[in-house]
Amino acid sequence: MFKNVNCIESSEGNVWKYIFDFGDAIAEAVLYRYGTFEERTVICCSVQSGCPVGCGFCGTGKHFVRNLTKDEIVGQIAYILADKNIRSSNSSCEKFQIMFMSMGEPMLNWDQVEGAICLMYFGLGWKNAQYLISTIGVNDDEVFAKIIDLSKHIPTLGLQFSIHRGLDPARNQLIPFKNKMSLRKIRDAGLTWNKVTGRKVYLNYCVTIENSINHELSALKDLFPPIVFNFTFSIVCNSNESEKTNDDITILRNVERSFSKDGYNTRIFNPAGKDDIGGGCGQLWYVQDWLRKHKEQS
Ligand code: SF4
Repeated sequence: MFKNVNCIESSEGNVWKYIFDFGDAIAEAVLYRYGTFEERTVICCSVQSGCPVGCGFCGTGKHFVRNLTKDEIVGQIAYILADKNIRSSNSSCEKFQIMFMSMGEPMLNWDQVEGAICLMYFGLGWKNAQYLISTIGVNDDEVFAKIIDLSKHIPTLGLQFSIHRGLDPARNQLIPFKNKMSLRKIRDAGLTWNKVTGRKVYLNYCVTIENSINHELSALKDLFPPIVFNFTFSIVCNSNESEKTNDDITILRNVERSFSKDGYNTRIFNPAGKDDIGGGCGQLWYVQDWLRKHKEQS
């Protein structure tokens, strides 16, 4: 399936980024080890090669090659588990998380993502794994109904919306993809999903100096009740190797504290390896180079 696989280890020594070359497409996946692999293993995998969404902070969003097949999605995870000799059974991995949040938008390749999840959960029997769909919220009711349906059958399936801004006009600038849900529609979709599954919805918010302003944060708190929504606050990664990440962790912590005080379940995501390898998930400089060259040649 793969013509070539490269693995880059971050200087922190607990993050590995894998690049899978299919010849006509490229994918990346990231492996995180927290403590030991037995304690907690996290794999973020790609669902598309490049991405048609075009988020302002993401290098891969400037290029789109093609959708990945379900076998190409599962293949990334299976390869990593075998490479690091990680056993995926209940008894050998206390916390095993598979996140569809590297390159690509899951809702734009839903049938293959669904096929991949079913293959892992029912076919390979990875019932202990937690699966997380991370989406900008494509405005497609039919696909969202399928996500709800699958979530009923897989109790370990989670849902995260990448919102990143607290007001629609600002969000439209950062995520220029037109056919996406408004923040209000994301709220409604999250409430519906929560009602059907009983599980809480994650919201991912990239904190910058501009969007940590109070009226954006108040708008978020007004819209998303803490009883249904958890917040993940992330460092914004740069899409260009010549820039370094602006790690303003103080702003991040202040925002996180303010939400936590108001009753939200919160966490901070500061992707390891972002400075020496490039970006967080979906933003490897090596991958960006490949995509750029592919575009020039085609
Ligand atoms: S951040 Fe995700 S959704 Fe946005 S362009 Fe990058 S890969 Fe696509």
